[in-house]
Amino acid sequence: MRLLLVFMLFATVTTAARADVPDLPYQARYLAGLKICLDPGHGGDIGEHYETTGYKRGPSGLREAVINLRITERLGELLAASGCEVIHTRQEDVEVSLEDRTRIARENCVDLFLSIHHNTSTRASANFSSMWYHGDGSTRPASLDLSRYLSDSIIRTIEPSEPQYSGVYSDRLMYESGFHVLREVPMPAVLLECSFLTNPDEERRLSKSSYNDKEAWAIFLGLCEWAANGVPRALPLEMPLPGEPGEFVFELKDGMKETWGAGALRLRPGSLRVMLNDDPIAFYLDENLLRFSLDEIPEVATLEIQFENRTKNSSITPPIDLRSYLCVPGAPVPIFSPEE
Ligand SMILES: [Zn+2]
Repeated sequence: MRLLLVFMLFATVTTAARADVPDLPYQARYLAGLKICLDPGHGGDIGEHYETTGYKRGPSGLREAVINLRITERLGELLAASGCEVIHTRQEDVEVSLEDRTRIARENCVDLFLSIHHNTSTRASANFSSMWYHGDGSTRPASLDLSRYLSDSIIRTIEPSEPQYSGVYSDRLMYESGFHVLREVPMPAVLLECSFLTNPDEERRLSKSSYNDKEAWAIFLGLCEWAANGVPRALPLEMPLPGEPGEFVFELKDGMKETWGAGALRLRPGSLRVMLNDDPIAFYLDENLLRFSLDEIPEVATLEIQFENRTKNSSITPPIDLRSYLCVPGAPVPIFSPEE
């Protein structure tokens, strides 16, 4: 009886939380099953030093860390309601190192990593949104796909006053090695500078929770629209034990809607590449089955399978470490005898 009461209480809380989620667009169903890491930038930057330097604060003192967190909390609710598994790097106003943020994403083997920020400028009128991907876009092409959808949705929904500067940018424009949080994760990743906290009008908008919700909705819609065009993946069917040579078979999934043409793999011709440590290797594609053999596995062995579906969405499958098969679903694991 006590157990039943506890269960009922829990169920009520869950229902109440869901009642707050607006009607989801039809595309939300295509996000179901994705594991997404939300990373609200900064946190814990409280105290005299931060106050006097104006660190990550708007002209009237609104803190970026707080706004970022409000948005990831709301976005997390929307994603969870769509059937995603959501991992947060922080859910409180605390400092989390960049190393810990990327470690959380790696250890949880998430499919996507989104770092939410708001920009600052010495030019008070600056207000646009910029989506940042790592490098030249060739290492994780799906990051570029996501950046485009997110950028379009944010510009359309929150209408920043300088849309002419809004867009998609490489993190190498800021630092030669790029941003730590994008560089140190293997999965598709985007850093979103949604708008400018240093613009007084934008700071006023950002102080309202209804506007924070609107921004979260813009990010959510961008993700929905990206997913509705298909989330391609390469799924392992046969692999030798980690570190061992042999034959590899992967099923390529275009992730597109189950409609006309769904019977065959909808691959963009010429887009499939298989690489071992950045060198292309020979493969054979038998309908949707990708086959190749490796005679030896080098000490460091990173396998990448890249392809685009017919809507030009790139595979989200991250590079595979052939020595560990870390984060590879269903990968074979060595069985050690007790003597070893
Ligand atoms: Zn920031």
